[in-house]
Amino acid sequence: MARRKKIYEGKAKILYEGPEPGTLVQYFKDDATAFNAEKKAVIEGKGVLNNRLSEFFMTGLGQIGVPTHFIKRLNMREQLIRQVEIIPLEVIVRNFAAGSMAKRLGLEEGTPLPRPIVEFSYKDDKLGDPLVPEEYIIAFGWASQQDLDDIVSLALRVNDFMSGVMHGVGIRLIDFKIEIGRIWENDYPRLVVADEISPDSCRLWDIETGRKLDKDVFRRDLGSLADAYTEVARRLGVLPSNVTHRPKPTLIN
Ligand code: C5P
Repeated sequence: MARRKKIYEGKAKILYEGPEPGTLVQYFKDDATAFNAEKKAVIEGKGVLNNRLSEFFMTGLGQIGVPTHFIKRLNMREQLIRQVEIIPLEVIVRNFAAGSMAKRLGLEEGTPLPRPIVEFSYKDDKLGDPLVPEEYIIAFGWASQQDLDDIVSLALRVNDFMSGVMHGVGIRLIDFKIEIGRIWENDYPRLVVADEISPDSCRLWDIETGRKLDKDVFRRDLGSLADAYTEVARRLGVLPSNVTHRPKPTLIN
């Protein structure tokens, strides 16, 4: 069989040419990186879990009318997606202070914010994805004012959806990052949610105990990352049966 053409390899995923023009195959690796790839590990099963979780969130977003790049899951590690022009921004939505915001403002992690806050980082690994104001984005032509307005409203819809879904399974959505792509339909541009949505790109805390169920477990050496992601997948009912064993039902007479 002919080898597929690799289009791009990132820290956690590989993109291959898709079966039809305008499509790509997105492959989820087991590699975990943090602090701009200064810390690295291979977490067995992470790619399989993130493929399922991203499928679950993207499908749900599609069902409430939020456009995404997702077409369908192909197998344990791959999904078919629409090819997009990625806007070079990390779009971060925060509901509670944590991570870089908590550090920058001297806030205790977990402090509720007065309202969801959307911020942008310029996607550039060499620079460490610096936080940028809207004015930079428009002046440097990374996105237009209209794009930014659309991106903020998409990001807030994603936040409402994700917060609600997570709340339903006892998890608080602290913050998350999404990426936005542009696709062309009959010469008209349209913005869609791209890349992935998974515990790699969200902060998720158990509502009862505060246990972290996201990549901070790896960043801060808090235990098994695979266990944390498995817990999220289990609660959402998207645990692939051959990653970890489902507990056998206990029969009670
Ligand atoms: O580190 P910081 O607090 O700015 O991260 C905010 C959110 O964005 C976190 O959920 C983090 O996992 C996510 N993020 C990401 N990729 C980056 C930077 C942040 O997924 N390059």
